[in-house]
Amino acid sequence: MYDFVVVGVGPPGARFARRAAEDGYDVLALEKGTIGEPLACSGHVSTDIWEFTGDGAREELFQNEIYGARFHVGGPDSDDYPFYKEGVASNVIDRVGLDRHLAAVAREAGADVREEHTVTGVTEHRDRVEVVASGPDGTRTFEAKMLAGCDGPRSRVRDELALPQPEEFLHGVLAFSEEDDHEDFVDVHLTPPTFFAWRIPRGEAGVEYGLAAPPGVQVTKHFEELIDGYEIDVAHRCSGAIPIGPPDRVTSRRAFLIGDAAAQTKPFTGGGILYGMTCADHAAREIDPDRPTTLAAYERAWRDDLEREQELGRWIRRAYSLPEPVQRLGLGALSGEIGVHMDRPTSLVSLDHLKAVFSRS
Ligand SMILES: Cc1cc2nc3c(=O)[nH]c(=O)nc-3n(C[C@H](O)[C@H](O)[C@H](O)COP(=O)(O)OP(=O)(O)OC[C@H]3O[C@@H](n4cnc5c(N)ncnc54)[C@H](O)[C@@H]3O)c2cc1C
Repeated sequence: MYDFVVVGVGPPGARFARRAAEDGYDVLALEKGTIGEPLACSGHVSTDIWEFTGDGAREELFQNEIYGARFHVGGPDSDDYPFYKEGVASNVIDRVGLDRHLAAVAREAGADVREEHTVTGVTEHRDRVEVVASGPDGTRTFEAKMLAGCDGPRSRVRDELALPQPEEFLHGVLAFSEEDDHEDFVDVHLTPPTFFAWRIPRGEAGVEYGLAAPPGVQVTKHFEELIDGYEIDVAHRCSGAIPIGPPDRVTSRRAFLIGDAAAQTKPFTGGGILYGMTCADHAAREIDPDRPTTLAAYERAWRDDLEREQELGRWIRRAYSLPEPVQRLGLGALSGEIGVHMDRPTSLVSLDHLKAVFSRS
């Protein structure tokens, strides 16, 4: 019997597996495919990412440094409203490489990480959880004291345990052009209804164009308009779901969700790499596999940390749907140097932000 079985080895799953193994627990982590694949993420993250990685990660994964974002109410030719920091605000990194790196670090810590193992069934008992997985050697049943569901936005674990669903799912699409671009600004277009499109310079790894929107919006049509506007050719299209709005409960009797499975994402960007790994740390700190009552402490800890950020993030997102003249007025009034941390909207009321605003010439 394992202490923990982890389902899904994206960033939160790998992070939790590593932390639990470091604490001396017996950890089995099951990944349905090859770690990191298929890609469905921009890998645009705050520089806090390097606090979660192991040795040599930056040299291996870093692609570009970003100082700010130019917001547009229209397409590529429209006026832009720049928001920037004095120093580096974020990094663009190799997301496939990140997953592989984090899984390798989890293995080094002692977790048994197995690829090509798809979890198809989960049953909770009073004293254990049974996990059915199909892999290269057929179907096997594993037993654990606790189960971590880190299996992404369309979580099988969440469904098997009849845990509530996230509030909504956006549909995100990406594609890449072969331009070399080391520029230090991303472009954000508020043109698609209720979310946004983006252009991210990835250094020698090309330029990424992407868009996300709720169901009912013609994502492909808006994406074609975006790339037509930029007059470029793109390849390697990929897409994925982005869960927004965590359900009321992400724990059951002997299981808990982390990452996209729990909608631990930023409502105003859909980003979830840092939130997921932060919550993995809360889970590792709070949950004792021999004491199921500690699951309540995990629910409290991650919500205490992120609830206000997600609430404020929701308000920011509402601004994407304001009438265009109001958006222009707001962006014009607010643009310039800022001191906001991209993962922490509450830093809008920080000393750093006030200093940055008052230092504008
Ligand atoms: C278009 C797009 C762009 C994005 N850009 C950014 C960005 O720039 N920055 C950012 O922070 N976030 C971004 N995100 C969000 C980010 O990708 C997610 O928040 C992050 O990947 C969440 O990690 P996760 O491990 O919870 O889920 P996932 O990355 O989806 O990983 C879940 C893992 O579980 C595995 N799995 C699923 N089912 C099973 C099963 N039954 N058995 C075993 N394994 C299973 C999957 O194969 C996968 O490896 C983006 C998302 C999209 C769609």
